Amino acid sequence: MSFDSLGLNAELLRAVHEQGYNEPTPIQVKAIPLILEGRDLMAGAQTGTGKTAGFTLPLLQRLASGETDKSQRAVRALVLTPTRELAAQVEQSVKTYGRHLPLNSTVIFGGVNINPQKDKLRRGVDVLVATPGRLLDHARQKTVDLSRVEILVLDEADRMLDMGFIHDIKRIISLLPAKGERQNLLFSATFSNEIKKLSHQLLNHPELVEVARRNAPIELIEQRIHPVEKNRKREMLSHMIGAGNWRQVLVFTRTKHGANRLARQLVMDGLSATAIHGNKSQAARTRALADFKKGAVRILVATDIAARGLDIDQLPHVVNFELPNVPEDYVHRIGRTGRAGNEGSAVSLVCSEEHKLLRDIERLINREIPKEVLPGYASIATANGHDAGNRRNGSSDQRRGNGRNNGRKNSQSTSRSNGRKNSQSTSRSNGRKNSQSTSRSNGRNTNEHSRHSSRTGPAKPGYSNLARILGSD
Ligand code: AMP
Repeated sequence: MSFDSLGLNAELLRAVHEQGYNEPTPIQVKAIPLILEGRDLMAGAQTGTGKTAGFTLPLLQRLASGETDKSQRAVRALVLTPTRELAAQVEQSVKTYGRHLPLNSTVIFGGVNINPQKDKLRRGVDVLVATPGRLLDHARQKTVDLSRVEILVLDEADRMLDMGFIHDIKRIISLLPAKGERQNLLFSATFSNEIKKLSHQLLNHPELVEVARRNAPIELIEQRIHPVEKNRKREMLSHMIGAGNWRQVLVFTRTKHGANRLARQLVMDGLSATAIHGNKSQAARTRALADFKKGAVRILVATDIAARGLDIDQLPHVVNFELPNVPEDYVHRIGRTGRAGNEGSAVSLVCSEEHKLLRDIERLINREIPKEVLPGYASIATANGHDAGNRRNGSSDQRRGNGRNNGRKNSQSTSRSNGRKNSQSTSRSNGRKNSQSTSRSNGRNTNEHSRHSSRTGPAKPGYSNLARILGSD
């Protein structure tokens, strides 16, 4: 299938070819002809599937071929997104794909001065990409006219609901022409009951299209745990980045403060690094992301919220400097790499305090993550073998026992109680033999998987939960 057969005009095809896209992705194949026909759409597709071009290309074509009254300053297409970063990314796509068309666009979101946005809106905007809160600020100040919107797109609708935007969305919808007088496109990774309810209010006899991720990225993500003492994590990280000559690394910390501190320390180690989190001004966040994307900064240290939904082309490395408190966040984090069919590595630096978090993550993803002790970093954490043995031996008493015995003594007693199996598994996980240990441990987990599958529903062993959670990302 080629782009030429989708019914797009020459200007859009030229822009697509300039982007180097050879063929449309599945969501583009399905969505573009329907949107060109003027149909409403309920689309199940997430970041990484090419959905942005899937709605932007036909939207631009419909605007370009429609009648325009240039004397009107009203917005013709409105795209709502949950986050500022996503809004900026989508508007960039509108500009990229629409570069050969006489249409203009702008993006508005909170956290930045409202006045330049007012100026742009006053001059007239065909495509407006916005986050809900700031859009309503403009509506209240009567600096935006939504009464002539021809096409409405709700991007990542499930995340908008998760973030509590439902009332804002309803208020915005009340400012638009009636449902039957505009085209409505809803994109969501999941179809919860709330999403279905919203779709009834919003969509007019919609076509339903659904696609899987462009590739099953999880299978392309190489996950690894490096046991390490807490106070040596920074040193290990610098070493890995330097020795591996990693050029682009997204590092996750648990706190904003921790992100700042780590970025500063990495800079002192001679590595270019910057931090992105909710306390930074929008300008600083945008700059940090742009520098990272274009390779001007090698390491981006981020908190979970700041990194949600970021689409960074071909990001090769994700590092969990600290494991997240919520196991699902691990899956969101590692999903930043392995995007769009590229391979990626996700490495977690795990100290003894984090063993419980690691256990929870492994339970969620139904697989044991391979452990590798880096030379020179054998530690108490290593001797604990991250409790893999405990899980195999299984008894809760044993788990309680280990929990009581923190520190050096514990490492001895743990390795003794785990016996030969544990030490074998630890040494196997070093170096080349690591993969053996992994496949064996996966084999052993089969029973565990079947135990879990009743809770999580049948799916491919090991990947079921990952795919589900990434699917909602
Ligand atoms: P999205 O799911 O819209 O966030 O897109 C994910 C990535 O895929 C973006 O970096 C796009 O530039 C890229 N992309 C979109 N469509 C195509 C295509 N047809 N071929 C190759 N890459 C694409």
